[in-house]
Amino acid sequence: MSDSIRLNHKEKVIVTAALTGAVTTKSDNPNLPTQPKEICESAIACYEAGASAVHIHVRDDEDKASMCFEKFEEVVNLIRERKCPVILNLTSSGGQGFSWKDRIKPFKVLKPEMASFDAGSMNWLNSVVFMNEPKFLELCGKEMIEAGVKPEIEVFDIGMLNTAKYYIKQGIIESPAHFQLCLGAPGGMEATTENLVYLVNHLPEDCTWSAFGIGKGANEIMMSALAMGGNVRVGLEDNVFYNKGIKAESNEQFIARVKRIVEELGKTVATPEEAREILGLKK
Ligand code: ZN
Repeated sequence: MSDSIRLNHKEKVIVTAALTGAVTTKSDNPNLPTQPKEICESAIACYEAGASAVHIHVRDDEDKASMCFEKFEEVVNLIRERKCPVILNLTSSGGQGFSWKDRIKPFKVLKPEMASFDAGSMNWLNSVVFMNEPKFLELCGKEMIEAGVKPEIEVFDIGMLNTAKYYIKQGIIESPAHFQLCLGAPGGMEATTENLVYLVNHLPEDCTWSAFGIGKGANEIMMSALAMGGNVRVGLEDNVFYNKGIKAESNEQFIARVKRIVEELGKTVATPEEAREILGLKK
């Protein structure tokens, strides 16, 4: 395990808030931000609670999963107008069945510093195929390089990790790469420490990494990732419950907990500026 921390900073932890996602609804948790003003307020509150980055999805007017460019534009403009320095990370999937063009346009035009890159297809939540076919990934990788957007490589199983390594070798993803290990989605690897250790031990040596668990394994993955020197992602996209049977009050409630734990470990949460340095984001 001694070399498994990869390039993650020894003293600073990058905390990403996954604000909205595509799956959870206000009936699952009424505190889920779904419209641009709510998403902006949540992003700022998370930054103030210690988040270095916010991962953004949008919803349509009926709160359904969406890749509507105008909604992304509104959210990004609102956050930028407030001069909030948090790192913006836009989804490039947004749910299921969106066109390649719709998936690429938000990061291509709005130029956030990061965007998600889902490194393979999977049977999503035992319902549909989450399509990330090779030609799309090649295009997505090239567009991210052109736009100066760093991919946050989302990995749901070891096959996706191998796929990402292939694209790094091909120059479609630049090194050092940044990985988000996503555990606990039905169709992907379960949210266990064993799986987290396995994935981390197979990451490229020169990468940075973060992890999160969906559902009941969330706290285990968060604690294990922190113990292993990793960065973490938390938020209502991944969990509507704060603890078993207790619905989360807000995204920032999750961030505040991570901050407390990180400080108990003798570390600090990375400011957006420190996270930019660790991730090598272009200025
Ligand atoms: Zn997402």
